[in-house]
Amino acid sequence: MPNSKTDTIIVRYDEIGLKGKNRFEFEKKLVDNIRLNLKSDNKEFSSINRIRGRIIIKSAENACSLKDVFGISSFSHAKEIAMDIESIKKEVIAQIKDTELNKDHTFCIRCQRVDKSFKKTSLDVEREIGEIVVNETGAKVKLKDPMFTFYIELVEGMAYVFHEKIKAYGGLPVGSSSKVATLLSTGIDSPVAAWMAMKRGCTNVYVFNYNYPFADKKEKEYAQGMFNILKRFDPKSVLYIVNFGKIQQKIKDTVNERMRCIICKRFMYRVANSIAEKEGAKAIITGEAIGQVASQTIENIYCENKASELPVLRPLIGMNKQEIINLAKEIGTFEASTKTSGKCGLLPSCPLTKGRIEHIEKEEEKIDIEGVVMAAVEDAEIVK
Ligand code: ATP
Ligand code: MG
Repeated sequence: MPNSKTDTIIVRYDEIGLKGKNRFEFEKKLVDNIRLNLKSDNKEFSSINRIRGRIIIKSAENACSLKDVFGISSFSHAKEIAMDIESIKKEVIAQIKDTELNKDHTFCIRCQRVDKSFKKTSLDVEREIGEIVVNETGAKVKLKDPMFTFYIELVEGMAYVFHEKIKAYGGLPVGSSSKVATLLSTGIDSPVAAWMAMKRGCTNVYVFNYNYPFADKKEKEYAQGMFNILKRFDPKSVLYIVNFGKIQQKIKDTVNERMRCIICKRFMYRVANSIAEKEGAKAIITGEAIGQVASQTIENIYCENKASELPVLRPLIGMNKQEIINLAKEIGTFEASTKTSGKCGLLPSCPLTKGRIEHIEKEEEKIDIEGVVMAAVEDAEIVK
């Protein structure tokens, strides 16, 4: 937590630093996304600057929402002071009071001297300030796993003092990779898959297939709720709500009952492909994992893939359900995922687990594929 006197937020990033010639573009995107995040969260700031592999935000706010900005590896609420040892001593003593450090605690001082014009070495600073802290509090120095760490960073003529590093998720800034059309349901998996795509810099165009009357009428509301949660990570994303119930009615009326799930999924892919074309998205994302349900056997995934022009990417493919649940809890989508009953009114008593593509394609000849997909996409509601 920042104390009442912090006036600066120091943002660190890692993977962007490896980007060679494209580094400038990535950093610029990250700064834009930070600005958007702070504005969306109504946080005040006076400037955001890139300095020597860090981003320095002039703001006294508690900006924990920065955790949602991909590309950031960690950040700290710091006090910016003059780069001289007396000012540093004074500030560390002030921050000792904030942490209520006492003789029963352990601590260490970490100094990073990026600005080499500062005469003392990092080690000198750590020793000198450490001694002062011992004298003030009676706390013991412990270099490995101390209870408190006080950090001093010396950058471009200024010193930054702080005592907390808040870990974020790293990755790449949203918008630095291409757009993807993401099949978003109201269940646990697909929001996590969407999150993972954003973590690698993708912008999601969400496609929610509204299955009413074969699913609960409230599903639409749940999908919008989920979309609002995911917007935290990318405030500019959009949601298409597709009236998929009409396509499901067609499937129910025409095709072999055991093939319904595979054919239904193939239509979802087609709808997503069509929306991707409109939006300039280059891949489809789903929350599928091998063997999780009947439609997700390798044989069925093979049949389903054949209906997609664009590559279908499945970030959760090798994850266990419990691992996905843990991640959903961590990123804040789990609760919204528990509202749905998950019931599908089209589910046959014995769905095919090993579909054969030639049978599926033959069965689909009974439907005007292009016609129903086009009608559904034209009719879609777009939410921003
Ligand atoms: P979820 O992943 O949401 O928990 P699920 O585990 O019940 O869904 P399926 O119904 O097989 O499994 O769905 C697999 C994937 O298909 C989902 O992760 C999602 O990407 C996509 N999907 C399923 N239903 C919908 C829907 N109504 N609208 C959009 N995409 C959907
Ligand atoms: Mg699933």
